[in-house]
Amino acid sequence: MQVAVIGAGTMGNGIAQVFATSGHDVTMVDVSAAALEKGLNAVRGSLARVVKKGGLTQEAADQVVARIRPATAVADAAAADLAIEAATEHPGLKFSLFEELDRHCRPEVILATNTSSISITEIAARTRRPELVIGMHFMNPVPVMQLVEVIRGQATSDATTQAVMELATRLGKTPVEVNDYPGFVSNRVLMPMINEAVYCVMEGVARPEAIDTVMKLGMAHPMGPLALADLIGLDTCLAILEVLHRGLGDDKYRPCPLLRRMVAAGHLGRKSGKGFYSY
Ligand code: NAD
Repeated sequence: MQVAVIGAGTMGNGIAQVFATSGHDVTMVDVSAAALEKGLNAVRGSLARVVKKGGLTQEAADQVVARIRPATAVADAAAADLAIEAATEHPGLKFSLFEELDRHCRPEVILATNTSSISITEIAARTRRPELVIGMHFMNPVPVMQLVEVIRGQATSDATTQAVMELATRLGKTPVEVNDYPGFVSNRVLMPMINEAVYCVMEGVARPEAIDTVMKLGMAHPMGPLALADLIGLDTCLAILEVLHRGLGDDKYRPCPLLRRMVAAGHLGRKSGKGFYSY
């Protein structure tokens, strides 16, 4: 099968790697040649770790990389049997990318999006094939994480859902079917927990290290919520909480003022070197 992955960033290159490892030919599209080179290097680095652990021979790893063809135009997705969009999380950008994909891809081709928070139903409405549009929400890092949240929009057909569920299983992942409501299941459950942990810091209930220790040792979470927020990026957490707050209209999703203040200060977590912890 020929797969087009739109976006070569953190998620896009991971998705490309997983499909290429399963033997599919992948066209990886990004706007800049530099982003494509960076994405391909990330795949090489990730595969090198698999080779080192004995999971793959060097020759097989080289073949995986060779199956990923970089491209700079969405039109290069025209031959694809499936397209997965993993570009920057911006509604206007996704809407126009889906209009383009709808124009270039054959009418029977499924168009999937890896969005974390944008409505699948709204994205689908930009195309002439809403029954073939679906969320395929991989987790970071894609080659390692088992879950794929498969999100049905209002118009997504049973056949599309079944095809994507089966495909995710063939990739070695565990798909879970959910419906299109703000935050889906993953962020609907995760973000209020992170937000509550930030309230605990703001109100002086405990220090970040203590809060994370409670959740790690007391609840068997592999990582505390504040360390996880730093990893995800505090700006991303704030944006998703705003989607939940706006989309569901319930004040229980109100982003904690401390989270807003940290984002305003540029303390975004790992990517800026400072969040609840220093890096
Ligand atoms: P990223 O910033 O690492 O990568 C996005 C890429 O999209 C960039 O390389 C950018 O150049 C490219 N891009 C922008 N406009 C484009 C266009 N018109 N055509 C082609 N490429 C374009 O972002 P990411 O973290 O990989 O996130 C991608 C998507 O995956 C988002 O929708 C995000 O919500 C979702 N997601 C992210 C995570 C995560 O942990 N990072 C987890 C699950 C889902």
